[in-house]
Amino acid sequence: MTDGHILLVDDDESVRITMQAVLETDGHTVTAVDGGARALALLQEISFDLVLTDLRMEGVDGLAVLAEVQRVAPETIAIMLTGYASLESAVKSLHEGAYAYLIKPCDVDELRATIDRGLERRRLTQQLRERVQELEAANATIRTLNAGLQQRVDAATAQLTAQMDELRQARDEIATLYTAAQENVERLQEVDRLKSQFLSMASHELKTPLTSISGYLQVALKRAQRRLERGHPSAEEWTAEVHADIKQAETLNRQTRRLGRLVNELLDVSRMQTGRVEFQHEPVDLLALAQEVATRAQSTTALHAITVHSSGDGQALVEGDADHLEQVLNNLVDNAIKYSPAGGAIDVTFDVDSHQVAMHVRDQGSGIAEEQQQAIFGLFYRSPDTRSHNAGGMGLGLYISNEIVQRHGGAIDVQSSPGAGSTFSVRLPRLAGSG
Ligand code: ADP
Repeated sequence: MTDGHILLVDDDESVRITMQAVLETDGHTVTAVDGGARALALLQEISFDLVLTDLRMEGVDGLAVLAEVQRVAPETIAIMLTGYASLESAVKSLHEGAYAYLIKPCDVDELRATIDRGLERRRLTQQLRERVQELEAANATIRTLNAGLQQRVDAATAQLTAQMDELRQARDEIATLYTAAQENVERLQEVDRLKSQFLSMASHELKTPLTSISGYLQVALKRAQRRLERGHPSAEEWTAEVHADIKQAETLNRQTRRLGRLVNELLDVSRMQTGRVEFQHEPVDLLALAQEVATRAQSTTALHAITVHSSGDGQALVEGDADHLEQVLNNLVDNAIKYSPAGGAIDVTFDVDSHQVAMHVRDQGSGIAEEQQQAIFGLFYRSPDTRSHNAGGMGLGLYISNEIVQRHGGAIDVQSSPGAGSTFSVRLPRLAGSG
């Protein structure tokens, strides 16, 4: 049983006294008043657990008391006391929020049971409200925690995203550095390979003429010593010896020229790479230059027929350095001879238009595989084809020619296929105003 603070409102004093006595006996605290007006005043000041009010009273009646209870303390239980005559109003009061009604004169047990149920109901309502409040507080805490958590999650996510970005950037930088390092390693390996290739090629190339020069000198020395020992030669011996000497001297001359050419090529490359080449610019007639080169080259070979033609109108005049342009022509014609060991025609042709002089050197030689056609203009490049290795050279001629042509504002390229000969073309800007 729940004890409660009860407001008892009844204008009938005997009812008040009886009920107060019963309720106090049950342990409740009872405030008894004789009318509605007094009850309304008390409701403003004190919070009751239960209001037990007569329905029909002079002035402020039970329904007004009920209305005030609903207004100021909705959880307070209101029980109406009524006679049979006002049963209808009692039922109406239930609709307006009263918990129950008792018909006077009340049975004490029924009174007690109703009061107990009412107080129990109030207790449960209060508990429910407290639970609801606790739940709301817990909800609010959870909401606050959630918001805090969300903020921290957001901050952590942003930090993580920033770190990921930094990592991604770092990874990209590392990848770039790695690629650059790899490229450097590859370049260094290539340089190293070229260096070894160059050393073996250069020593081989320089050694060949030196061996033949030193061989000739040894033979000449021995012959002179023998002659000293034998005394004056006869007229026939003298003629035979001079003929042999001339033949040897021609070889010597060829070999020293070859040596000179090789050393010059090396010097040219070195000058080009250090930017120390100087060009003396003047009008140069490429057709005339080609004819000179062809005549000289023809004298070195009986296997080839070298011709020079010009189609198109106008002179093949360019602005350039005659010596260097001659070097380009020499290189192309020498290569045409060198790489067509079976001989054949070597044609130098010109296409001249108002802007450009194009010169083509065509041979019937070994040709060049497609995949090598770019590389042959590189430094020290020699075709892996053994025939071209036997031909001698350091892989510098086309590199030097390409540099010279480019420095004249022109371009050089090759059209070729293995076994079907090659055509090297040099295109240079035509000298403005030449007819
Ligand atoms: P070198 O002749 O001294 O080796 P070049 O730079 O003149 O050097 O030529 C590079 C390479 O290009 C040669 O080793 C050869 O393989 C190839 N080459 C040049 N000209 C010709 C040609 N006319 N026909 C075939 N191959 C050629």
